[in-house]
Amino acid sequence: QKVPIITVDGPSGAGKGTLSCMLAEAYKWHFLDSGAIYRVLSVAALHHDISFSDTAGLTPLASGLDVTFSVTEAGNRIILEGEDVTDDIRSEEVGDAASQIASIPLVREALLRRQRAFRELPGLVADGRDMGTVVFPDANVKIFLIASAEIRAERRYQQLKALGRDVKISRLLSDIQARDDRDRNRKTAPLIAAKDAFVLDSSDLNIKQVFEKAKNYADSKL
Ligand code: C5P
Repeated sequence: QKVPIITVDGPSGAGKGTLSCMLAEAYKWHFLDSGAIYRVLSVAALHHDISFSDTAGLTPLASGLDVTFSVTEAGNRIILEGEDVTDDIRSEEVGDAASQIASIPLVREALLRRQRAFRELPGLVADGRDMGTVVFPDANVKIFLIASAEIRAERRYQQLKALGRDVKISRLLSDIQARDDRDRNRKTAPLIAAKDAFVLDSSDLNIKQVFEKAKNYADSKL
């Protein structure tokens, strides 16, 4: 039996994570946060003193990455080599490192099998940049979620402010633009909407409206 898949791709900060979790919850399906895998790999590289451009060092690290995604009473935890890195991987620094590492073709290839292993019944919602184009090109439903860079910077600013972090919005905006450029212009698996993707712009929508549009679209395709 073919396991059904919904892919949610798009630039950072468009709300993919929130939307994917809501869809996985609604259908009671599994969830793959592929960005977390690239982030964990960056933390592993830091632990092992491997530079973010060292292809020969990073590729075996990626194929043998000792990571587990576990559901516990404290929520979903990510364990790297026995250590809980759930919170560490969310920093801007790690996100930036992940985007550098993710531009290396051999690293991406080494992570393919691991990502595809998440495809299990009753279904999977996969969140990332190349879920609908490279990792699961046969997905039943492909959503490409976008929002203007200004709106994404503003949302991130509000999140960080709520956490008591003091950040400049102009800095967040330039970081987002730099990350977008790198993700869009890399040669392997660039950030681009699949030909058969439903492009959903969340700039003027709240999360409930985004979810409703995505769910209606998915229902019509499943
Ligand atoms: O989505 P998230 O911000 O956690 O991803 C971190 C980085 O990992 C992204 O900027 C992107 O460069 C990379 N990534 C990727 N392909 C994916 C998921 C993430 O290249 N499927």
